[in-house]
Amino acid sequence: EQLRSLLISRIRDVADYPKPGVTFKDITPLLADPLAFTALTDALANRCAEYGATKIVGLEARGFILGAPVAVRAGVGFVPARKAGKLPGPTLGQNYALEYGAAEIEIHADALSAGDRVLVVDDVLATGGTAEASVELVRRAGAQVAGVCVLLELGFLGGRERLAPVLGAVPLDAL
Ligand code: 5GP
Repeated sequence: EQLRSLLISRIRDVADYPKPGVTFKDITPLLADPLAFTALTDALANRCAEYGATKIVGLEARGFILGAPVAVRAGVGFVPARKAGKLPGPTLGQNYALEYGAAEIEIHADALSAGDRVLVVDDVLATGGTAEASVELVRRAGAQVAGVCVLLELGFLGGRERLAPVLGAVPLDAL
């Protein structure tokens, strides 16, 4: 539809980044276009309302850029899920495997409470490892995952299939 083609037109393919053979989806042209960025923010805020979300969890780093204006627009709180070691207070962490090695994301231990329904926001779903870790982290914090929203899904990497058993009936949307 119209929104989708506008958004897709503002994402740039960068060849051989971050390494040879990989084509990186660069969202900076979308961020620089106020019409496209606003349309994306509105669409995500609508999902937030539709799912009855009470918090946005944004995944470092582009999930911060996309998720923060959604939280403001939707009138809910924003919670950053950061790479390990960046948050000042007591944290909850979740490890996950990368293609080579491992990574860990953290949220503040008091950032979510039992009644919270969380919309997880990131720019790109690739293998799904980051999203999977964030879902587990939100649940370990005692909150519910209301949905996972990304701007773009790289279907050939199988992230949706990987997340399916973890998400169950929880919706995963790529806009
Ligand atoms: P995954 O854990 O699903 O393999 O990777 C997703 C994470 O890596 C997301 O946080 C996303 O920001 C980043 N990522 C992976 N590939 C791309 C890409 O082509 N473009 C952008 N913008 N981010 C990517």
